[in-house]
Amino acid sequence: MLGHEGQPMCNTPLMDFYTEHIHTLESTGASLLDFECPYSGCGFGIKTGTVAPGLMDAPLSTCPSCERFFWKIVQHGRACGLRAHRATVTRAVGALIGPLGLPIPESRSDVYAAGWAYADGYLKRGGDLAVERVGDWLEDKAKGFWERLAAERQRKS
Ligand SMILES: [Zn+2]
Repeated sequence: MLGHEGQPMCNTPLMDFYTEHIHTLESTGASLLDFECPYSGCGFGIKTGTVAPGLMDAPLSTCPSCERFFWKIVQHGRACGLRAHRATVTRAVGALIGPLGLPIPESRSDVYAAGWAYADGYLKRGGDLAVERVGDWLEDKAKGFWERLAAERQRKS
């Protein structure tokens, strides 16, 4: 039971990656936007770069603190996060980048669904089926990711 509770979640690879990314942006003099992680119980202050006037960007993102998926909605000068629940992920991924290559299996958690959807997008962009590591994700999200890759391998064999 050593230091298991109350430990700040600031040593994950995801947080390292995020911190480095923000430092890089800041060092280029980019103006950053602030918003809070949309998940209650987290509310982590997230920074992001802005976009040009008239543009909107809405990538699926992962909170560096709680590691849950959300939609990052960025317009010029403002940003917010939208919780990406299973139905939203399925629908919105469909709307933005076309239907999922394989539907998310029934009765899985939202976190699992997020991992699955991420892998689906990853494969669409030509990602490697034999990828070895995706960072220290929540267990269920990593499971969704791996099972989507496994399904793809099965489909191609
Ligand atoms: Zn969070």
